[in-house]
Amino acid sequence: MEKIRVELGERSYDITIGNKILSRLEREAGRTLLVTDSTVKKLYAREIASALGTEHVFSFPAGESSKRPETSLDICRTAARLNFDRKCRFAAAGGGVTGDLTGFAAAIYMRGIEFIQIPTTLLAAVDSSVGGKTGADIPEGKNLIGAFHQPSAVVIDTAFLATLPPAELKNGLAEIVKTAVILDGQLFEQLERDPESLFQKPDFEKTYPQIIRRCCELKGMIVSEDECEKGRRAILNYGHTFGHAVELLSDYTLPHGQAVAAGMAAAGELAVMLGVWSKECVRRQKALLNMLELPVKIPGKYNTCDLVAAMRRDKKNLNGRTRVVLCSDIGCAQLPVEADEKDLTEAWERIR
Ligand code: ADP
Ligand code: ZN
Repeated sequence: MEKIRVELGERSYDITIGNKILSRLEREAGRTLLVTDSTVKKLYAREIASALGTEHVFSFPAGESSKRPETSLDICRTAARLNFDRKCRFAAAGGGVTGDLTGFAAAIYMRGIEFIQIPTTLLAAVDSSVGGKTGADIPEGKNLIGAFHQPSAVVIDTAFLATLPPAELKNGLAEIVKTAVILDGQLFEQLERDPESLFQKPDFEKTYPQIIRRCCELKGMIVSEDECEKGRRAILNYGHTFGHAVELLSDYTLPHGQAVAAGMAAAGELAVMLGVWSKECVRRQKALLNMLELPVKIPGKYNTCDLVAAMRRDKKNLNGRTRVVLCSDIGCAQLPVEADEKDLTEAWERIR
């Protein structure tokens, strides 16, 4: 069992990582509402509720369509009916959807109560459970409602990964590659050395704790530096401005990891075109994504003009100009730069 501290002054917290660690957790005083989706409830709710010492469980139907502010309000209403006061807490056990909705509910219930993250997907373990971004979708756009609200603890038990479908595993792998490309050349080399091990279930407990630890450590450092994304935290969007465009055009049927992988491939091409990244770096990024069975071409028959138009509408842009993160080496991202639409079109064309 290992602990990483995310330093954020009064809002600092620990991330605990290990295999089968849930039962070893110390119970905290005060009442807890466990929030989970229907799939995770069936698999793990009893075990997690017992580890937390609570019998209060709220669950919602698994899937992106539950990621609405109404679900967060339902969590709050359940807490209110249970007479939860400011000292009570929520615990989110599940993937990114559960973490975002529960965190948002915790941000607004009685103007903010504590919540803990117990990620059960690889994506949530390496990315979304750390950093305090919470929220929900509205018909007008993804993640348009939300708040920064840091968890009071993150507990990552790699035993949950055993039941994860391969497609979900790959969503997490895409974010791991992203983290390595922007921040850690050594982690990238480690992934390159033995990509098959990332799919071998019997080895999960050997492979993943260290990789997850490193990703959380890196994300924690960035978040400590720039909690509310006024500057450097934006590098975590590597591959995402491109990726969000494909997600949007696919009507959100494309898994996030596939969109981010294609997005990184496009960002790599643009970086080479602009002379900031070497061809060798792009080749290595492409080879690793390939080995992880992630796309390096546009996944679908989309028009490059539509993709560029979709990028222009990304909520991270300022003053209507498209900004993208590029790398100058493997393990070294630069702050976002404004990109010319002609160049963006060309970058997409190169991965058609
Ligand atoms: P993400 O973490 O990818 O953002 P979601 O919260 O949408 O995603 O979770 C993806 C799917 O995986 C959901 O259907 C969820 O119920 C399911 N899921 C989450 N954790 C596990 C697990 N440990 N085993 C099997 N399925 C899981
Ligand atoms: Zn992502």
